[in-house]
Amino acid sequence: MDWQLEAEKRKDHMLKELQQLMAIPSVLSEETTPDAPFGKDVKRALDWFLEKGTANGFDVKNVDHVAGHLEFGQGDELLGILGHVDVVPPGAGWTKDPFGGAIEDGKLYGRGAIDDKGPTIAAWTALNLVKDAGFEFSKRVRLIIGTDEESGFRCVERYFEKEEMPTIAFAPDADFPIINAEKGIAGLVFSKSEWSQADALVSFKSGERTNMVPDLAEATVAGEFTAWQERFNKFCSEQQVSGSAVESEENTTLTLHGKSAHAMEPDHGINAGILLALFLKDHLSGDGKQFVEFIAVHFHNDSRGRKLGLDFADEISGDTTFNPGVIRFEKGKKATISISMRYSVSYPFKEKMTDFETEGFLLEIASDSPPHHVDENDPFIQTLQTVYEKQTGQKADLLAIGGGTYARVLKKGVAFGMLFPGEKDVAHQLDEFVDIDNLLKATAIYAETIYQLACKK
Ligand SMILES: [Zn+2]
Repeated sequence: MDWQLEAEKRKDHMLKELQQLMAIPSVLSEETTPDAPFGKDVKRALDWFLEKGTANGFDVKNVDHVAGHLEFGQGDELLGILGHVDVVPPGAGWTKDPFGGAIEDGKLYGRGAIDDKGPTIAAWTALNLVKDAGFEFSKRVRLIIGTDEESGFRCVERYFEKEEMPTIAFAPDADFPIINAEKGIAGLVFSKSEWSQADALVSFKSGERTNMVPDLAEATVAGEFTAWQERFNKFCSEQQVSGSAVESEENTTLTLHGKSAHAMEPDHGINAGILLALFLKDHLSGDGKQFVEFIAVHFHNDSRGRKLGLDFADEISGDTTFNPGVIRFEKGKKATISISMRYSVSYPFKEKMTDFETEGFLLEIASDSPPHHVDENDPFIQTLQTVYEKQTGQKADLLAIGGGTYARVLKKGVAFGMLFPGEKDVAHQLDEFVDIDNLLKATAIYAETIYQLACKK
């Protein structure tokens, strides 16, 4: 079977279906009903797939209107393919209609083109291609459609409470070749409420989300304006960052600009909060000093948790990282440092976290999503590698990442495409698009994968 050729035969039909699905503005909405818990447009996108499934002879199921599946084949074992039809809001500034599905220079444009309607349509086309070829199936194959990937995975959480966990599965919602290791993602909060000696620090604020390196930090301090301004300007020029001191009523507001980056590699950014703390620690004497010193001592030039004693690395997934993304202080009140910790696959989490306490700050584990890993020697992984290498002529390296993909809800699942190595990631960006040649290539890869994993030879 020439899978690439078969995919190309379906090109026009596939693009038409993708345009239909992309025309539905399936953004999470506040206006919900019991049969549209994420809004009517999200539900329409789910229904679109379920109707297609019914028309094409699949066994179709709607699970509480939050997810659904289309199933084909036979056997005890189940191969799952997990995609999603919800999209993030388009935002302002598009040069194309975000729901128009315009085709230009070999690209199809619109919100969801690469995340995740395009890849889900590629999997859907691949499944039809294998089904229509008349092969005998040795497993059941199930395309699972989620509708809340972008805002918290409530879809798949509910789905897997009620439905069978696939024996093996892949999610076409990230990168090729294969992401088989994802670090654990924990939310840590250091806090302190008991303060005894107020000093010049009135307030301190940096960051809005722990999963980003904050590019802005602001502190209000009491004391003589020109003195603060002089010292702060000197510090900013030494650190080669921009900052400003502004006089406000009796106080001075210091603003420092860093560089934003994703929390999965804090060293790619410049954490404005940490730098501002580093500056302030030498010019305070009481509660504020204690607070900023804790930040500066434990996090400046150390995104690996070495000074906290929480560092750890392994060969599969690399270093554990710490991103103090949100920092808040107001004189006399509870002060917090909220961190996104991305911990290595073999991190001894319980052991390291038990009884961990440091310098009067309390540590609370606000959230924890354990690491996800499928062994590289698993025959499932090896099949994916073989197919990928055959279809692309490229080596199918295994990837480990600090972010979380849709695959982490699966028992034995990996992220498999469909962004190819070196391709620009336009997910969530303005003028999001999918490259049509790559869409066809991904379809061929998914079709052969389904054939190799679920059909009798
Ligand atoms: Zn996605």
